[in-house]
Amino acid sequence: MLPQADPGKRFAGLWNDILNAIQRVFARGAFILGEEVERFESEFASYLGVAHVVGVGSGTDALALALKALGIASGDEVITVSLTSAATAIGIEDAGASPVFVDVDRSTRCMDTDALTAAIGPRTAAIVPVHLHGFPAAMEEIMAIAHRHRIFVVEDCAQAHGATLGGRRVGSFGHAAAFSHYPTKNLGAAGDAGTVATSDAEIAAKIRRMRFYGFDSSQVCNGPGSNRRLDELQAAILRVLLPHLDRHNAERRLLAAAYRSYLTGHNFGLPPEIDGAVYHQFAITVEHRDQVRSLLAARGIRTGVHYPLGVHRHLRFAKAGVSLPVTDELSHKLLSLPIQPEVTEGRVDDICRLLCECAALRQ
Ligand SMILES: *Cc1c(COP(=O)(O)O)cnc(C)c1O
Repeated sequence: MLPQADPGKRFAGLWNDILNAIQRVFARGAFILGEEVERFESEFASYLGVAHVVGVGSGTDALALALKALGIASGDEVITVSLTSAATAIGIEDAGASPVFVDVDRSTRCMDTDALTAAIGPRTAAIVPVHLHGFPAAMEEIMAIAHRHRIFVVEDCAQAHGATLGGRRVGSFGHAAAFSHYPTKNLGAAGDAGTVATSDAEIAAKIRRMRFYGFDSSQVCNGPGSNRRLDELQAAILRVLLPHLDRHNAERRLLAAAYRSYLTGHNFGLPPEIDGAVYHQFAITVEHRDQVRSLLAARGIRTGVHYPLGVHRHLRFAKAGVSLPVTDELSHKLLSLPIQPEVTEGRVDDICRLLCECAALRQ
């Protein structure tokens, strides 16, 4: 069985470096907020081209803390997309705000900027665009809209480590950006981890306090906060992986190009061709998706669905009167093919041949 993703395999070629990193942490005996976290923060900040990175417990923590640090609170609305992980909306609620969902652009599958403009109201305090599947959202337009309305932007970069737009890394456009280092992400740890990127020193300092009980420098609670720390082992592992991120993303692009050349002319909708994309997923649209997917699984190829239901339709977030037709259509048709290099290398032709066979059975 070919898995859709297999995060453990990423470490195989780096095993010595990983063991050294783990040994280094144990030799020091400091496991929380030490040297590894500090170094990873500054290495990732220079990689992204931002002034500050703050390590936190998860991508959801990163979204919640970024929004809280910007002053988003109860009573505020935050506009985001529905074609995303539920964690995007959970992070917004965690900050006390209410998510307002808008539709996506059919081609990029990222936030539709006309829908964004139409959704802005008196309670709108921030926008959370998602760089879905590793494709950069329309950040120039989104920032212009945000400036016009004097509202904040927090980029959800959980699927887009290293993606660029006009030569600039995503995560450097918004007032802040949230990254998840969940194991399957392009820069994934061996457990839960997240980071916030920002070039605003005050925002970064607030997040540093809020991730650690709200302590000030004398360990006194003088503000809001909880436990949302990044640990030393995860930071040490991320430091091993970071220097390989660009190579890893380049391998994903090559696999995407191979898929594209095989599948062009067949009856599938292909993802957009965008230079700076990092292909966290290579998702095609397929008629009778669920049946094609099980036929393919019966032939030994596992695929993914990101996502089976727009977040606006999850019971917890559902509200009357919200209509997002493109999100609904894509959530019924998108099928994520295996794209992790360690899984997919050498298998693209095979996967495509079986996919075409299975799709033909349903036509
Ligand atoms: C993975 C993911 C998150 C959540 O990250 P966690 O580390 O699991 O909390 C948020 N948003 C998007 C778009 C994601 O893919």
